[in-house]
Amino acid sequence: MVNRRNVRIFKTVIISAIIAMIVIPTIIAIVQSVRIGYLQSEIVELYTQVADLSKRSERNSISNKPLLDSPGGSASQDEENPFKDYHPGLWIPTKDRAPDNYTENSSPMIYFTFDDGPSPVTDEVLDILKEKGVKATFFVIGREDEESKRLYKRIVDEGHAIAMHSYTHDYSKVYASIDSFLEEFERLSQVIVDATGVKPTVYRFPGGSNNSNVDPGLMKEIIQEMGARGYVFYDWHTSAEDAVGHSVTEEHLYNAIMKNINNREKSGYNRAIILAHDSSANVNLPKVLPRLIDELKERGYLFDSVTNRVQPEQFVKVGQK
Ligand SMILES: [Zn+2]
Repeated sequence: MVNRRNVRIFKTVIISAIIAMIVIPTIIAIVQSVRIGYLQSEIVELYTQVADLSKRSERNSISNKPLLDSPGGSASQDEENPFKDYHPGLWIPTKDRAPDNYTENSSPMIYFTFDDGPSPVTDEVLDILKEKGVKATFFVIGREDEESKRLYKRIVDEGHAIAMHSYTHDYSKVYASIDSFLEEFERLSQVIVDATGVKPTVYRFPGGSNNSNVDPGLMKEIIQEMGARGYVFYDWHTSAEDAVGHSVTEEHLYNAIMKNINNREKSGYNRAIILAHDSSANVNLPKVLPRLIDELKERGYLFDSVTNRVQPEQFVKVGQK
């Protein structure tokens, strides 16, 4: 009796043990395979993050190099371009960069800036400036026909500043990405260098730095990248309110500019960067310029062009030199 019962118990124990040996590993296997699946997807995600970070740090290490130069330190002629592998045409050597402190005189100053040229109006504008002995600045776009090349050269030959305003002025291209922005300005810089022998050091954003066609995060990144490369951007104090594509009257141009100058004077400012457009539609610009210049001269203003020695007006403020 006892023996049989023992055998039954023994059997039950063995069968239970066998079942346990099958069931437990199966459960463990199921649990582990679920975990493995989860960990695998986590690994994929981490790989993506690492790849992204290494791409960024690669770019940052390029961008940071010029900032490591001692400020004000004299750069040797053969200073190596730290961007030689990434849009190398867009880089200003230390010796040609903006000063750490702007030391402008306190005379009342007007900086005329003409955007979007060259155009059929450029020659007339240049004639007036020459006649009046006034220096100005042309924020140009990219054109490679012979007439435009002649105009770039005339601007420089007559002592005005030539500055960059993007190659296409097409917001969907200029602001598509940081690469696209650098591509636009590198190409424009080369066209200007080829036509004039001068490499521009200042630029203006199409639409201004606060325009709504660009993501603010991308704008900040562009400003920092261009700053690291030695470029300074200029917005404006006073607009002629002559948006491109519309012909405006002489009266409109005169009143828009003088109204803004009057307001600035009332607020105690004696310095203005004036924006007007050098475009085929703006035929009244050269007609109103003599009157404007005479009026401003009478008020005691001096005129000069915008170089990186001029204190910039910037709508978007980003921590940079
Ligand atoms: Zn423009």
